[in-house]
Amino acid sequence: MAEDPRDWETETRLVRGGMARSPYGEISEALYLTQSFAYDSAESADERFAGGPGFIYQRFGNPTTQMFEDRLALLEGAEVCRATASGMAAVHVALTGLLRAGDHLVAGRALFGSCRWIISEWLPRFGVETTYVDATDIDAWKNAVRPNTKAFLVESPANPLLEVTAIGAVAEIAHAAGAKLVVDNVFATPIFQKPLALGADIVVYSATKHIDGQGRVLGGAILGAEPIMTESYKDLLRHTGPALSPFNSWVLLKALETLELRVRKQTENAGKVANVFASSGKVKKTIYCGRPDHPQAAIIANQMTGGGNVVAFDLGSREAAFRFLNALEIVDISNNLGDAKSMATHPCTTTHRSMPEAERLEIGLTEGWVRMSVGLEGAGDLSRDVSRALDAA
Ligand SMILES: *Cc1c(COP(=O)(O)O)cnc(C)c1O
Repeated sequence: MAEDPRDWETETRLVRGGMARSPYGEISEALYLTQSFAYDSAESADERFAGGPGFIYQRFGNPTTQMFEDRLALLEGAEVCRATASGMAAVHVALTGLLRAGDHLVAGRALFGSCRWIISEWLPRFGVETTYVDATDIDAWKNAVRPNTKAFLVESPANPLLEVTAIGAVAEIAHAAGAKLVVDNVFATPIFQKPLALGADIVVYSATKHIDGQGRVLGGAILGAEPIMTESYKDLLRHTGPALSPFNSWVLLKALETLELRVRKQTENAGKVANVFASSGKVKKTIYCGRPDHPQAAIIANQMTGGGNVVAFDLGSREAAFRFLNALEIVDISNNLGDAKSMATHPCTTTHRSMPEAERLEIGLTEGWVRMSVGLEGAGDLSRDVSRALDAA
């Protein structure tokens, strides 16, 4: 093929990137539901086990999974993508592949709940200490560095109040300290933010969110340059077994075809819904990355090309938040995000309930906050539904 897929526009990458047709010439990518592979000869088995091309076993790789990995790598502009069974498997592997006993990690303090569990409860068992910082404060990242700091973890925008971190500035601090920067890019999506181009070493996704976007399967991905992906992750992925199933790979591969369309429409809807909240007397504060009144709007303008589909708003009390949620007729009460269906959740009693109150207050998460993931429904219906719920709040 004379065309270099790396020259393609985003939409073309998403529809055609990574496709490996079988001799049947199928239009829809094939689902290779197979655990292992037969070799033409003992010699060819010998060659493959010595590292030659071809598949060996599903835990190491699979043609359908590889199509998903290659398509996502092409979208991200990464040399290598490795798929995992969930976003949390990706975060866990991304961190443990870089850290060993005696090492130190610096992480933003507003993180997805299970990421905080890995860092606060799990890594200490293996002798890894972490300093949590206010991710919006560049000096805090600098001051947290120790001689044994080996990795930084940034989630930007962060869950649930959409704090944004200047990825390039944090990458410089990490690299000056001899550490690697891992960015959890779920909220920004691969459409609106490219952490590797901003200086990150590793990007992780929960493909469960926007990449599936239709509420079906779990999945995750780790992306980066070839040397670090091989050195830090290849053996870890092979031998600890977080492989994504071929079926889920196929679902996610096909979902990538429409990712850009979906994320753009969700974002358009989110902007409209955010305006309803921002102009309502019932809402104390609205945070949305696509609005000029976002606290880090200047950084967003530098590193994101769209606001994404999550809106957070403060109704002042748990009672008002519950009245709002219970009055919704179209939008679901659910803690997921990135879906075609709009959903809203009360973080204090759901996603962030295990976070101690003092830490919740540190990130500004009081009882009145609601987080909404805006979907693909008609913007008029969504605006009407949230307006009615605001009246009830
Ligand atoms: C959902 C999520 C994860 C975890 O992904 P799973 O696929 O649920 O394991 C990690 N980070 C962020 C920011 C998320 O939203």
